[in-house]
Amino acid sequence: MGTFTGKLLRVDLTRNKSTVERIPDQHFRDFISARGLGSKYLYDEIKPGTDPLSPENRLILSIGVLGGAGLQGFSKWAVTTKSPLTGTIFRSITGGNFGVWMKHAGYDFVIIQGKADKPCHVHIDREGVYFLDARDLIGLDYRTVQIKLKDKHGPHTESACIGPAGEKMVRYAVISSGERTASRGGVGTVMGSKNLKAISINVPIRKPAPHDPARFANLARKQIEILKQHPRKKNMSIFGTPYITTVVDSLGILPVKNFQEGSIRTVQEIAGKDFLELKRTKAGCHVCMTRCGGMRDVTQGPFSGSRIDGPEYETIYAFGPLLGLTDKQFVINANALCDYYGLDTISTGVCVAYACELFEKGLISHSDTNGLDLRWGNQEALFSLIEMIGKREGLGELLGEGVKRAAECLGGDAIQYAMHVKGLEMPGYDPRGVKGYGLSMATSNIGGSHMYGRPRDELSGKVDPYVEEGKGRAIARVQKEQALEDSLIACTFGNTGLDLQFYSEVLVAATGIDAFGSQDNLLEIGERILCLERCFNIRDGFSRKDDSLPQRMLSEPLKHAGPATGQLVSHLDRLLDEYYEALGYTKEGIPSVEKLKELRIDRCPDP
Ligand code: SF4
Repeated sequence: MGTFTGKLLRVDLTRNKSTVERIPDQHFRDFISARGLGSKYLYDEIKPGTDPLSPENRLILSIGVLGGAGLQGFSKWAVTTKSPLTGTIFRSITGGNFGVWMKHAGYDFVIIQGKADKPCHVHIDREGVYFLDARDLIGLDYRTVQIKLKDKHGPHTESACIGPAGEKMVRYAVISSGERTASRGGVGTVMGSKNLKAISINVPIRKPAPHDPARFANLARKQIEILKQHPRKKNMSIFGTPYITTVVDSLGILPVKNFQEGSIRTVQEIAGKDFLELKRTKAGCHVCMTRCGGMRDVTQGPFSGSRIDGPEYETIYAFGPLLGLTDKQFVINANALCDYYGLDTISTGVCVAYACELFEKGLISHSDTNGLDLRWGNQEALFSLIEMIGKREGLGELLGEGVKRAAECLGGDAIQYAMHVKGLEMPGYDPRGVKGYGLSMATSNIGGSHMYGRPRDELSGKVDPYVEEGKGRAIARVQKEQALEDSLIACTFGNTGLDLQFYSEVLVAATGIDAFGSQDNLLEIGERILCLERCFNIRDGFSRKDDSLPQRMLSEPLKHAGPATGQLVSHLDRLLDEYYEALGYTKEGIPSVEKLKELRIDRCPDP
């Protein structure tokens, strides 16, 4: 089927065995690839109630149908699993070359199951799959691991690996590939639970051939023209995501001091242009003319002399305003520290901010913090706390469980200050000032993510961010489109200006499947993915009660937030009703029997 190999590699770590399987044609037509098909396999293969850290959980690595075929911004890859942070289905998308190397090896998917009896490293080359002893890699950070794997298997080797935090079961550990990370939801923790330190590939380059090469090449040229003319592409290329910081601040939705406020007076100190001054070389994913990344020198602080790819907006938010800071050197050093341990920067920042607010409110004291003085902006103490999380020591042991579990453990008033949805720490947009985005986070099947349905019209001011009426329907549509894009995989930042029409044309040229030429069919595929993910969660007990936001968003008007001051999510129930109706779900947020039938999802979950 053109650029889709139709093959998956199954790796069983318990039995040290690998097998190659054909992906059923109908699965591909119904779910395309990456997120969609990954969700289908996870739904079919693990039972309700499965412990995410047990050998029964799957770690599903996938690349999109268009990956590696030469289009701009389509080479990212995804990890699908049951999250140890949220207990929901999860997908985390990342760059780096590993996904394209999977395609070169002849696979769209690698499904990892079981658990190795000792630290293991899986290597794939043209001869086969090898299960290798990884005890010499234990305790090492991602860069050192990658260097060692290239030394061992050749410079052409690409890998995905975990750092020390993944080994120590910090619940928000990442998987690194090159300088990029699959950051959210604890996908690296699942990898650690399987005793899998790294998976590497060294195979000759084998670019997938489109079904209609001439038409595909024309569309690739058209895509370049669209991108060249799009203003957002220019901002992304020059500044990368740091340019978002001042935009979000001006909207009054930049979370400050654990979401107590919505803008910060000194925001210019961490504006995009400030990081630009530190930029040394542009960086990006395989075949991407946007190249939003930037390798920056760390010139001060504990990591002085090293380099990082970043920081991205979400990291600036998490180690800047969220902690009451606008010090770019602190942001860069905290970013480097998280990279070293293999920690998700958003979850880490939210956990640290949570501890700071508890300290401020007198709910924890020096005796709980191992003597750290967790005042807002006390850089030395905050840095030490991040390190403790990476090592799971002292207060870091509790915070390494994620903010939801930490709050439940502390109990009482401490619960109300935990900023998460379904256990996933909140990203850098305050829902009170962007009602549609708030609804998207509340209803997300993976928890509080900024990448599950990003309402661009609301963020750009094309629609009023404070209006609630109509947002349920709008978010249902945005989430369907995002599910489709995550299944192609089209990078959100590298594909500005592309629309459903382009996706349908390119899918037909790539695969020869005419059904992909219907935009209605593509939207239905997006809807089917959302619905199946919801069914997965319902089987595990999730329902309307979980489609919510932290109490602060519902009862505490936004402060110091410029135009958004005083805003509140006051009618979440109304928004939910409209959202469920738009998707054919019951009032409890459960897909109706008719909807399941329409989408050909044959098993009704037991709520
Ligand atoms: S825009 Fe950035 S994240 Fe997206 S594919 Fe390009 S380099 Fe990667």
